[in-house]
Amino acid sequence: MQSDDFELGFASLAVRAGQVRTFEGEHAEAIFPTSSFVFQNAAQAAARFAEQEPGNIYSRFTNPTVRTFQDRLAALEGGAACIAMSSGMAAILATCLSLLKSGDHIVSASSIFGSTVSLFNNYLAKFGIGTTYVPLTDYTAWAAAIRPQTRLLYLETPSNPLTELADIRALAELAHAHDCLLVVDNCFCTPALQQPLKLGADLVIHSATKYLDGQGRCVGGAVVGDAQRVGKDVFAFLRTAGPTMSPFNAWVFLKGLETLQLRMRAHSANALQIARWLEEQAAVERVYYPGLPSHPQHELAASQQSGYGGIISFEVKGGREAAWQLIDATRLISITANLGDTKTTITHPATTTHGRLTPQERAAAGIRDSLIRISVGLEEVADIQADLARGLRQLA
Ligand SMILES: *Cc1c(COP(=O)(O)O)cnc(C)c1O
Repeated sequence: MQSDDFELGFASLAVRAGQVRTFEGEHAEAIFPTSSFVFQNAAQAAARFAEQEPGNIYSRFTNPTVRTFQDRLAALEGGAACIAMSSGMAAILATCLSLLKSGDHIVSASSIFGSTVSLFNNYLAKFGIGTTYVPLTDYTAWAAAIRPQTRLLYLETPSNPLTELADIRALAELAHAHDCLLVVDNCFCTPALQQPLKLGADLVIHSATKYLDGQGRCVGGAVVGDAQRVGKDVFAFLRTAGPTMSPFNAWVFLKGLETLQLRMRAHSANALQIARWLEEQAAVERVYYPGLPSHPQHELAASQQSGYGGIISFEVKGGREAAWQLIDATRLISITANLGDTKTTITHPATTTHGRLTPQERAAAGIRDSLIRISVGLEEVADIQADLARGLRQLA
């Protein structure tokens, strides 16, 4: 299961890519909870440290279980290399610190994960790396924001929570015309629904914490891309700085990848049913879901994604009070800002994930007080609907 991995279909890669059986003949992937590895002799140790011979040295940067996860995710995204990290944020940090230097510039979508904004503004800025934010869907604004110092274009698609899409093909062309890299955080779609590298992106970021695990157990992340930038540059950062994924977490994520496609199809099917149903409810003002024909970028979603994902946002009539009332009426759905779980979750973005923005910033981002986001899980659709219906009845 190595050299011809790329000829297998997605579902086969998800189950088998990257596994190298030991002499024990184990069927499932083994966990290697060992900090270091032994060498046959001093010469071998020297060759390993000098990178003249491949092989394990120390689990900060070489561990067989972590490597299996990396090889499998690389195969699923269609990338030459993947480096796993201790979290999604560590993956973003590692990408920026290994590929950028003082004086470089990032153009980023404004609608990205809040901690990524903090990382760019509070930490990268301290070291002379500036960021300009542009509306995700405004191609002209992307093009206008690029400077001679710009090295990265950075985005998430669909966005959180309003499910806006970026045209990955168009932005990849724009990036390459200016000698920049396009970085796509593919957390919401996963490679089961969208493969940004095949659409022209250079690097893919993952928070494995979300759908890759998919069952809410472990925190982890990864970067996928080419052999030089990821396989060498990001790897060198990992080796030196140490934001390492543990072998146990890698094993959990491996098991998650095996069912990724099935789960993403089921999340998408459930979400589509619920989005259509929400659109018919009198107390609901507007539904944001790329699978609905009413979504302004429905066609783009159909052309660059193979499914619409599990995240829906909707606005209720009656502002913040009504939104909180609906959330508090749920009994099955979990009230938590996390997403990408088998369990359906519900959150009020204006007072949680986007609560630190000023009211003006929130208005500019289109996050109204009446907005609710749900991450549709794998429970019975009828039960999820009944749980939402209780709150909707109170509002009507
Ligand atoms: C959660 C998340 C992250 C950060 O990942 P962690 O594993 O929590 O560090 C980055 N991007 C997106 C889109 C996320 O949802």
